[in-house]
Amino acid sequence: MEFCEKCGSMMAPTTTEDDTRVLKCRSCGHTKEIVGRLTVSQKVDRTPRDKIVIVEDDSLPMPTTSAACPKCGHNEAYYWTVQTRRGDEGATEFYRCTKCKATWRNYGG
Ligand SMILES: [Zn+2]
Ligand SMILES: [Zn+2]
Repeated sequence: MEFCEKCGSMMAPTTTEDDTRVLKCRSCGHTKEIVGRLTVSQKVDRTPRDKIVIVEDDSLPMPTTSAACPKCGHNEAYYWTVQTRRGDEGATEFYRCTKCKATWRNYGG
């Protein structure tokens, strides 16, 4: 609980026009920027859009499907899906050749 340093009234968390999380006094309107663990970061996505996510943990059982490897022509690959940052874009499918371990993504959807 935070109290206004000017008038001593209770302060409530709110968001300013430039998307900064602040505490605002309910009485006099004094604002104070929220620091530390109360800060909520909206900028969590720093991953480049086309970066291929490679699953390094081979101990996980992965499903396989019939897909032609662009590298060696083998016709069986592990596959998994990765949710892109916008929910309405759906999930992107990735494949990894069971033979040569080449990894590629399915643009076709
Ligand atoms: Zn105040
Ligand atoms: Zn291959």
